[in-house]
Amino acid sequence: MKVIDAPSPNFDARVRPPDMIVMHYTGMLTGEAALARLRDPQAKVSAHYMVEEDGRVFSLAPEARRAWHAGKAFWKGERDINGCSIGIEIVNPGHEFGYRPFPDAQIAAVIELTAEIRGRWEVPDARIVGHADVAPDRKEDPGELFPWKRLAEAGHGLWVEPGPAPGPPLAEGAEGAGVFALQAGLTRLGYDSAPSGKYDAATAAIVRAFQRHWRQRLVDGVADGETRARLIALLRLAAA
Ligand SMILES: [Zn+2]
Repeated sequence: MKVIDAPSPNFDARVRPPDMIVMHYTGMLTGEAALARLRDPQAKVSAHYMVEEDGRVFSLAPEARRAWHAGKAFWKGERDINGCSIGIEIVNPGHEFGYRPFPDAQIAAVIELTAEIRGRWEVPDARIVGHADVAPDRKEDPGELFPWKRLAEAGHGLWVEPGPAPGPPLAEGAEGAGVFALQAGLTRLGYDSAPSGKYDAATAAIVRAFQRHWRQRLVDGVADGETRARLIALLRLAAA
């Protein structure tokens, strides 16, 4: 695909090839402002790509280098997420400045770019995630409007549609074996959710991140029956 060269100085060396893709939204009023910031040496942030709402794709850092997009993060036992991932910034004002649907042309470009990246590097479906998935305590992007289902239908990432799943909701303050099992499941998927059996604020933040990705119609941090059924179905799919 055609990419526009917009080099950023904000990257360093990788120690291993990337095997993960992290999706972001820019969270700024305009794409121009975001691009300027991602290229500003003072800002010390970047990504490998930025995708505009009209589908234009900017290349900011070489894929073989370690761009600075994830910050303090965790997935599947690893904390240096910049070191093992490729970061894609998707232009959207975000929750702070007027979160809005991602246009078709933009998502088509994200899908094409993802396919090309996966042609160059080995990236499993279970390792295509959002910034909120790897930093649930401080990030919400790309958020519950990002069409993960459409990406999965195009062959990228995990998606499930389990049937109805009644069951008592687990919420902040709950304790016990059910909470322990939930945390163990979230950990197995990749989240930083060491099982304690206590549904604390950190657990609620992780459940919200999970819902922004995999149960988008209601993001409330409560692990209801549907949320838990989706987690179980995803774990089956990831293990298959
Ligand atoms: Zn981000």
